[in-house]
Amino acid sequence: MSGIFGVVSKDDCIQDALSGVFYLQNRSEDYCGLAWKTPDGKLKNSTHKGLVRENFPREKVNGINGGSAIACVSGSREPVSELSRRGGMILCVDGNLFNYSEIKNNLLEGGASFSGYHNPGEISDAVLISKIIAKEFIFEKGIKNLIGQMKGDFALVALTPEGIYAARGWGRKPLILGKKDGSYAVSSESVSFINTGFEIVRDVKPGEVVLLNSGGINFVAQFDLQNIKYGTFEWIYTAHPSSLIDGKSVELVRNKIGALMAEKYKIDADLVSPIPNSGRCHATGFANASGIPYFEVFKKFDYSGRSFTPNTLEAQNGVADEKLIPVKELIKGKRIIIVDDSIVKGNQTRKQTQRLKALGAKEVHAIIACPPLVCACKYGKSIKNDEDCIAKRMSLEEIRTTRGLDGLHFADVEILEKAIGLPREKLCLDCWGL
Ligand code: SF4
Repeated sequence: MSGIFGVVSKDDCIQDALSGVFYLQNRSEDYCGLAWKTPDGKLKNSTHKGLVRENFPREKVNGINGGSAIACVSGSREPVSELSRRGGMILCVDGNLFNYSEIKNNLLEGGASFSGYHNPGEISDAVLISKIIAKEFIFEKGIKNLIGQMKGDFALVALTPEGIYAARGWGRKPLILGKKDGSYAVSSESVSFINTGFEIVRDVKPGEVVLLNSGGINFVAQFDLQNIKYGTFEWIYTAHPSSLIDGKSVELVRNKIGALMAEKYKIDADLVSPIPNSGRCHATGFANASGIPYFEVFKKFDYSGRSFTPNTLEAQNGVADEKLIPVKELIKGKRIIIVDDSIVKGNQTRKQTQRLKALGAKEVHAIIACPPLVCACKYGKSIKNDEDCIAKRMSLEEIRTTRGLDGLHFADVEILEKAIGLPREKLCLDCWGL
């Protein structure tokens, strides 16, 4: 999972690029990068491991100037650079090739070489995508070739001498355009625009290529793709609640899922509580619709990392263990509904239930804002193996009893369709095996 951002401006835009990508930090914490075009036309690139604000503090970037820049947060070293007969290109990608080996072998057999790599497995998806695009003199022809060859999905931004290209694959990876006073921007999520003063122009459509330059946002190409599917999990968990993803407010979709769950499952309880932060918007919707008071029985300790971004489930669990602190006074003798976005292994659900029961909770019911996860996502890499998903191995009743829950209810596809406002054919449901 990555967050990508690009901006062109009549003035210097480096601070806007860094602020824009800072607000995408929810999408990855592994690497961050910035590429920019200097006032004398050179393309530059800087990548670091870790967080945006740690690696690009305001005082350090004051010496960098540029009228166009791209930036990313990602799980691998990006942006990646390419020099071809059409000139330099620097690329940030949010996406995944699940025919990685086929693409890599085709490129190697076709004579491509990869400097800086000694072993084929080290080459990232972004590097392969960059090679495919750079083979063509015309950028959109490179995207056409990419679409023809790849299995998976993508959104990307490319810094080139003529401006910033933005392109979107089959819909799972969001991409939105914005503008302010002679500046034009593109971002994975509209949350980047809010505190930076940009207004939303529109989403980049699946299959579309646009070019941002000093003249504005220019339409380049629209490919007629079959099987457009939007990234359902963006609305459930991934995106920031303040974002609009393909015109739908993430906060309001989550509220609606909670409200529809409250309509469907009538539970006698004393309070509704999210597992913070990811269950908060769903829990608000559930509490408002059911009339059951909203409290937070766990408080998130702000100095712990996010539990989903470390690479192994063990590391994720380690962070999750330390990040939640119970409010004992809310728990004793209460019948509690906890609301979470999803269950993967179920270890955290068991631990949280055990903690609540040990602190005197009378009953603990869980409301989960999506169907049971049964597959690793092929389009991103957050869950590594299908076997990590408890619902792949256990029935719902087994999950409920082994997790010590008095009740367990998952959202179904009808609830997702209603809450998001898209029919199931337009929703990616792969990680639920649907
Ligand atoms: S499989 Fe799930 S997580 Fe992956 S793109 Fe589809 S909805 Fe999103």
